[in-house]
Amino acid sequence: MGEELKARPFCGGEARHYAPGPPDNHVECVRCHADVGGFGTEADAVSAWNTRETERRLKQVISADKDEYDTMRWEYEKKVADLEAEREAFRELASALMGLECEFRRIVSKFEGMVR
Ligand SMILES: [Zn+2]
Repeated sequence: MGEELKARPFCGGEARHYAPGPPDNHVECVRCHADVGGFGTEADAVSAWNTRETERRLKQVISADKDEYDTMRWEYEKKVADLEAEREAFRELASALMGLECEFRRIVSKFEGMVR
């Protein structure tokens, strides 16, 4: 065993090495499950975990998550806007329908007046 694993600086969680399948070596924080992986050897994974490389990779992950979040948020807001537009169109339709109903009643009562 070479270099000792450092605790994660952000949460203080203890780190552990695991290898889901060589040559894929990971180090994971047991507290918050931050993870670095894809290393050919345990030594490389440990070294990456213990250096700024970890931070760089985590920032990449966070940035990718942020992009995904922004996309979802944008889609959500577009759907809300579409729904608002549909609701507005529905209101206009309902109001036009009420106008037609009034017109219809007027014609019917006029017709009934003629028949009497
Ligand atoms: Zn952690």
